[in-house]
Amino acid sequence: MAQGIPSELLMNNTLISDLAEVAKDAALLHGVLLRIKESPNSSEVVTYAPFTLFPTPVPKALFLQAMAVQTHYNTLMDKISQDPDFLQEALASTISVDEFTARLYRIHQQVLKKGRSQSIVLGLNRSDYMLDQKEDGPTSLKQIEINTFAASFGGLSSRMPDVHRHILKVAGQLKARQCITDNDPAVGLAKAVAKAWELYGSKRAVVMFLVEEKQRNILDQRYIENELWKRNIVTIRKSFEDVSKSGELDDNKRLFVDCQEVAVVYFRNGYMPQNYKSEQDWETRLMMEFSMAVKCPDISTHLAGTKKVQQVLAQPGVVERFFPNQPQVVEQIRATFAGLYTLDMGAEGDKSVAMALATPDRFVLKPQREGGGNNIYGQEICEVLNKVKNSAERTAYILMDKIQPVPTQNYLLRREMPLKVSTCLSELGCFGAYVRQGKDMVMNDCVGHLLRTKNSEHLDGGVAAGVAVLDSPLLF
Ligand code: ADP
Ligand code: MG
Repeated sequence: MAQGIPSELLMNNTLISDLAEVAKDAALLHGVLLRIKESPNSSEVVTYAPFTLFPTPVPKALFLQAMAVQTHYNTLMDKISQDPDFLQEALASTISVDEFTARLYRIHQQVLKKGRSQSIVLGLNRSDYMLDQKEDGPTSLKQIEINTFAASFGGLSSRMPDVHRHILKVAGQLKARQCITDNDPAVGLAKAVAKAWELYGSKRAVVMFLVEEKQRNILDQRYIENELWKRNIVTIRKSFEDVSKSGELDDNKRLFVDCQEVAVVYFRNGYMPQNYKSEQDWETRLMMEFSMAVKCPDISTHLAGTKKVQQVLAQPGVVERFFPNQPQVVEQIRATFAGLYTLDMGAEGDKSVAMALATPDRFVLKPQREGGGNNIYGQEICEVLNKVKNSAERTAYILMDKIQPVPTQNYLLRREMPLKVSTCLSELGCFGAYVRQGKDMVMNDCVGHLLRTKNSEHLDGGVAAGVAVLDSPLLF
C-alpha cells in the first residue's frame, strides 16, 4: 500500500487490535449503524455497520473522472426512460425468458397505454466502478453497473470521512488523514427528493419510503428522512402490504395512504422477485405507478437500470443515439465501459458463448438480478452456458469482462468476525440525483460517493449481502 498505510502499522498486531476498538467506537459515535440480524425491526440493540479499519488509496484523477461523468449518466438514464422504442428493442430478448423483467415491462406498457400521470421525474442512482489494472497498462475506471433503484448507503457513507479521519489521527497517520475527502450524499439525495416534493405542490403531502418487511438498514435511510424533516417535509415508511391495505387513488389519481396524500414514493424495496410476496404486491406497484405521486424511480427508469440495457448501451452507436451532437459526452461515458457482450440468439451471441467457454476466467455472467450474489464466475460459467447455449434461455444473461483491480491489504471490521488482515478489492460508487419537470431538467448533480471493500476471496456481493464493507477513498 505505497500510497496508503505503512506496512509496519498494518502488521503490528497490538496496535491494530487497540485501533480496531477505537474504530468501532468511532463508528458508533458517528452513527455508522446497522440493526442486528436477530432483531431487524428493533433499534433496542444495534451494531456498527461493517467497515474497513483503514481507508483505501484511490487515484484522485480516476475519482474525479467518476464524479465528473455522473451528471451525464443521470441524463442518459433519464433519456432512456423516455424512449419506449429503445426499451422495447433492448429488452425484447430478455423479457421473452426472464419472468421478473417481463413483469416489470408489462407495468411499463400499462403505464404508457394509460398515459403518464405525472410529468415530474425524480432520479436517485449510483453508478459503481472498479479500477481495472490491465497487465502493464494504466489503471482505468470501469463501470460495474448503475443502480437506478434503491441505491443504498448514501446515509451511512456520509459519516465515514469522520470515522476514518479519527482512526488515522489515533494511528498517527496525519498526512494520510489529509487525503480523506468530505462526503455527504444524504444531503444531496434529500435535496432532490425535496425539490420533487415542492414541485408536486401540496404542503400537506408526504414523502413515502416504500420499505422492506425486515429493516436492518433503516438507519442508512433515516439520514435522508432526517434531512427532509429539517425542511419540514413529513416522511412515512410503508411496506407493500401497508399500501395495499390502506392505499387508494382518488379521481385525480392522487395517491393516499392512511388518508395522507403522497407526493413522492421513494422505493427502497421492490427490485427483487422475492420482494413481491403476492399478486396483491404487484397490484400495489401498479397502483403507485398509475398515481400522480412522483415515483423514484418510475417504472421506465427502473427498466433503464437493468443489466441488459447496460450491455446494449455498449454496442456501437447506442450511447450516440442519446447524445446526438455531443461527442465529448459520449466519449466520457464510453471511456467507463468495460467489454459487454450480448447472448442474444444469432452469430454475435454465439461468438460471446464461444469466447466465454474458452476463457471463463476473463468474464462474469450476469442474470437480470440486483442485490448481490447472483453473478456467475469461472468454471460455473461453462456449466451454465453449456446448459443454455442452444436455447433462448441464454438471453436471460449478459456477459461482461471481469475487471481486475489491484488488491490492497486491510482489516474488515464486522460484528463477531475475527480481526485479521485481508487481501481486498474495492468498488467506488457515485451518487447521482436529478429532477425533471416536463422538458426542464431542474436539478442534475453528482451528490457524493461510496467506497465499498470486500475480501478478494469473494467474487460477488455488496454490503447488504454481508460481503462488502464501508470504506473511504484516500485520494492520492
Ligand atoms: P448487483 O446488482 O448484484 O449488485 P453487480 O453487477 O453490481 O450486481 O455485481 C455484484 C458484485 O459482483 C459487484 O459488487 C462486484 O464485486 C462483482 N462484479 C460484478 N461485475 C464485475 C466485473 N465485471 N468484474 C469484476 N467483478 C464484478
Ligand atoms: Mg452492484
